[in-house]
Amino acid sequence: MTPFPEPLADRYRRFKHRHFESNIERYEELAAYGQSPQVMIVSCCDSRVDPETIFSAMPGELFVMRNVANLIPPYETGGTYHGVSAAIEFAVLNLRIKHLVIMGHSGCGGIKAALDRETARETEGQFITKWMSMLETARLKVLASHQGSSHKDMVTALEREGIRTSLKNLRTFPFLSALEGKGRLSLHGAYFDIATGHLYALNESTGQYYAL
Ligand SMILES: [Zn+2]
Repeated sequence: MTPFPEPLADRYRRFKHRHFESNIERYEELAAYGQSPQVMIVSCCDSRVDPETIFSAMPGELFVMRNVANLIPPYETGGTYHGVSAAIEFAVLNLRIKHLVIMGHSGCGGIKAALDRETARETEGQFITKWMSMLETARLKVLASHQGSSHKDMVTALEREGIRTSLKNLRTFPFLSALEGKGRLSLHGAYFDIATGHLYALNESTGQYYAL
């Protein structure tokens, strides 16, 4: 048997001793009555962009889904294994969350691969290129509007455009757009800059991001 990594076991013991023990009543309550988070965050798998850390969250407060480049595919019922759609359905219809935030970030490897399709091809991966292809329209839009810009600026633009695409795709889910129309659910875009720690929110009326 391969032993469980000791550094992880050590960190777990630290969590149990320092965090869990001092919040045991909260955990007991959550175990007894279940979770009722008001907010869902969709974030990248990137290890530098942890929603619970960024929003100073306690257990039970955030319903988090992470995937490569924080993407929401458009609503479709074909296929079998809809991990993203299942999480959205559960959060919106069962937990009845009030806010759904798509949080992108700077230096996103998935977005960079989508922009520079050569990079994606070099990985010889089976999945990332196809997954990121849902940003093809966004990619073409950024390429057209950022002619002459640096590669770095174009990556940033696509990181931000990807959030707009995911918000647009979210609204293709009939149950979700119906609840948004009734004012029972609001959708938000956010962008985290790893180097500065700044968090920007998207104003969908203007299409611009503003610092929080
Ligand atoms: Zn990322």
